Amino acid sequence: MSLVDRDLKVIWHPYTQMQTALPPMPIVRGEGVCLFDENGKKYIDAVSSWWVNIHGHAHPYIAQKVSEQLNKLEHVIFAGFTHEGAVELAERLLKLLPINQKKVFYSDNGSTAVEVAIKMCLQYWHNKGEGRTKILAFKNAYHGDTFGAMAVSGRSAFTAAFDSLLFEVEFIDLPTEENIESLKSQISNLKSNLACFIFEPLVQGAGGMLMYEAVYLNELMAHCRKEAVLMIDDEVFTGFGRTGKSFACDYVAEQPDIMCFSKGLTGGTMALGITTCSQQIYNAFLSDDRLKTLFHGHSFTANPIACAAALASMDLFTEPSTRENIQRIEGLHSQFLEKIRHHPKVKTVRQTGTILAMEWETGNDTSYFNSLRDILYRYFLDAGIILRPLGNVIYILPPYCITDVELNYIYNKIEQALEEI
Ligand SMILES: *Cc1c(COP(=O)(O)O)cnc(C)c1O
Repeated sequence: MSLVDRDLKVIWHPYTQMQTALPPMPIVRGEGVCLFDENGKKYIDAVSSWWVNIHGHAHPYIAQKVSEQLNKLEHVIFAGFTHEGAVELAERLLKLLPINQKKVFYSDNGSTAVEVAIKMCLQYWHNKGEGRTKILAFKNAYHGDTFGAMAVSGRSAFTAAFDSLLFEVEFIDLPTEENIESLKSQISNLKSNLACFIFEPLVQGAGGMLMYEAVYLNELMAHCRKEAVLMIDDEVFTGFGRTGKSFACDYVAEQPDIMCFSKGLTGGTMALGITTCSQQIYNAFLSDDRLKTLFHGHSFTANPIACAAALASMDLFTEPSTRENIQRIEGLHSQFLEKIRHHPKVKTVRQTGTILAMEWETGNDTSYFNSLRDILYRYFLDAGIILRPLGNVIYILPPYCITDVELNYIYNKIEQALEEI
């Protein structure tokens, strides 16, 4: 039996309507920006395997570091015990973050990093004896698929089956020059009950690569600070260079209270989540009263193999050549953006750092379920490019090691698609 037939017999894939989806594609090997199928056909991974890969596939340096760690210590309980990798990763990550970030809490993935952040905020107020319980979030937000993370995400097709069970959240529009003052008064009106504000900084990924400006985020953050509303900066997608700077919050002067990381954290090698927080948050849990403890933990908290992968990825991330690659991709993206901006089939095109997104004109509203999606997906696969359109929104966010030749190949195929589809 072929691998695909065996797969179809036993596997249920994520975000996949199993009745109508194309059969999954077996991948046997990865190298740099490319993935290879059973027949040796090469695919450029233009979406960094669901946004996690930043240095390329099967990176030899990360592989070596992970392999060394495997022979030393594969795992140890992280309550009552510690290990070198977890401490070193925390020390090095905090050095890259806004100065107010002081403590690192480990978990397994982006959703759990968000769950931890929400619990830190809610229990912060609980421990202080103040009943702030409401959470503020953006419309169209995406913060993960566990229940708390779903609750603070925009209500959508993804959440429809669960909407009645999700806790109530106040949703506001993305900030613009026009609405910023009204958003600020909305926050002021709610403030006595607002525990925190959670946001994807500058780019809402799963919502369709929606982008907004740093000046208005900064203004909203300053206003939250004034009203003592805690801020959770969800950098799960935007962290580690995606937006051009190391973290999207590097574009704003205000500092969040809490930050969430995953995806690029291990270079896309292992599942790992991190929630960092300020001393103020941490201190609210210090007490002789055991009930003020943060009662949260996962079996694989701070897994040493995942920490080794993250440390290796950080070595690569802080090399000057990585910064140069990010800037090179930014430059090429913006040239391509100008080139296609006025094409009649291009509804809008936008860019933040290494993320380029374009909405295909379909005559209908932009939607995740737009049927053009499957046509585009197939078209680019045939051309040896993995693009995974969000409905009629095509986006490119490659590993930073992509070459000019590979990027130009993708741009050319998009231009060709604009003519042929
Ligand atoms: C992907 C994502 C998450 C969830 O991360 P998982 O590791 O998939 O659970 C949370 N927040 C943002 C902004 C994301 O893009």
